[in-house]
Amino acid sequence: MKIHHLRSATLLLTLGEHRLLVDPMLGDAGSMPGFKFFGGGRRPNPLVPLPPETKACLDQATGVILTHVHPDHLDTAGKEWIRARGLPVWASRKDVPSLKRKGLDARELRDGALGMAVEVIPAKHGRGLSGWLMGPVSGYHLAHPGEPSVYMTSDAVLTEDLLAALDRLRPDVVIAPAGSANFGLGDILFSVDELVTLARRAPKDVVLNHLEALDHCPTTRAALGKRMAAEGLAARVHIPSDGEALHFEKRA
Ligand SMILES: [Zn+2]
Repeated sequence: MKIHHLRSATLLLTLGEHRLLVDPMLGDAGSMPGFKFFGGGRRPNPLVPLPPETKACLDQATGVILTHVHPDHLDTAGKEWIRARGLPVWASRKDVPSLKRKGLDARELRDGALGMAVEVIPAKHGRGLSGWLMGPVSGYHLAHPGEPSVYMTSDAVLTEDLLAALDRLRPDVVIAPAGSANFGLGDILFSVDELVTLARRAPKDVVLNHLEALDHCPTTRAALGKRMAAEGLAARVHIPSDGEALHFEKRA
């Protein structure tokens, strides 16, 4: 399995014969308005351009996976690119109808899709009012027979349900968003403390993304790396730079 991190939540996931583009936000830097509505610091998004490796990754893609349809996971440029390529878009049951209305070849990501065991794990994208405003999102556990298993939590805060999913599924690799996003109305992504709890509970590797690309995600890679090292988690927690590829082998 290869996770080629591109920017924020966008990555190319190589799983067996599949090259799956996850959550494509493909617009140029500054192509969207800021998301930080309260508390100052609002700037146009994305904050940074895509890395030079992007085109080679996009050219390989055989399909798209969407965890949810917020604009930092599917933007206008992402939609246009998918339509031009005519690739299938694997999404939760809830998101399939709206994606079809956008002219995309949307298909439900469920068990057996892509020839592998799939479990959809509902997640909470915030607490209280913020969580309600964000709406439901879906994490996915993908278990390709020849590859390490991977659990993408989607944009989420830490819940007992999410920890229970980790305990039950024992994923080889967890991919989690780490920018500690907030609109100024409370957290809508894992706090750094919650990421420490998640990494301790994860059985093996953890990949942290959704960093340093959006105005409402204040956590930096440097601060996160320092904290994970202080917690003794640096060997298992990976924080890729934009354009960096991570390789994982199936355990015997
Ligand atoms: Zn997001």
